[in-house]
Amino acid sequence: MATQIDLLANVQIIDQSIRAKTLAVEEAQGRVAALEEAVQTQSAAAAAARGELAGVSARQQELETRLSANETKLKDRRMRLARIRSDKDLGVARREVDLLKEETGTIETELIGVLEQVDAASAKLRGIDEELARLRAAMETEAAELRETVARLSGEIERERSVRGALVEGLDGNLRRKYEMIFSRRGGVAVVEIREGTCQGCRMRVPPQLFNEIQRNEQVILCPSCQRMLYWRADRAEASE
Ligand SMILES: [Zn+2]
Repeated sequence: MATQIDLLANVQIIDQSIRAKTLAVEEAQGRVAALEEAVQTQSAAAAAARGELAGVSARQQELETRLSANETKLKDRRMRLARIRSDKDLGVARREVDLLKEETGTIETELIGVLEQVDAASAKLRGIDEELARLRAAMETEAAELRETVARLSGEIERERSVRGALVEGLDGNLRRKYEMIFSRRGGVAVVEIREGTCQGCRMRVPPQLFNEIQRNEQVILCPSCQRMLYWRADRAEASE
């Protein structure tokens, strides 16, 4: 017949396993979320770069439309110039041609700058899109692996919970609550072995009187120093104190 402390020691083995697996599940889920966030950030950067390219491309088109309209006008004015007879009209028409030429020059200058911006924006977008594709592929591979790990661990946790459920049926309710409280407050270690009179949780020496009581295994005794439950394994060959 297993004593209460034997049972608690077994429950703790399962609890530590559940605790480690739960942490691993949380870590994997956090990693998946981080991967998804990285893809989202890159997608947003791609959208911004696309918007930037659309803006400069629209400006390019506008300038090209104005340029071709100017060229049509110029051609038309030059043809008229040949038909003008009066000096006064000729002067006005020539000034108009000069103004159109000047305007064309201004548009061309701006267009050269805008074309450079279009090239730069296209290159930037290409780079961002390539990185996005790389991130997406990496995310899909890694996230699939992580999800598999989460599913496997979750299954194991569930099985361990049911084993635990059967084990704790043999435990005194108060003792169980006490154990659970110590387990959560003491970093997942509530039951510790006592070896050669020393608590393995805090390395403090337990008074000989108390050690004798623990060896009798009649009740669960707490370490006077770290308040964990002391467990003495009779099967462990140990020199008597
Ligand atoms: Zn201790």
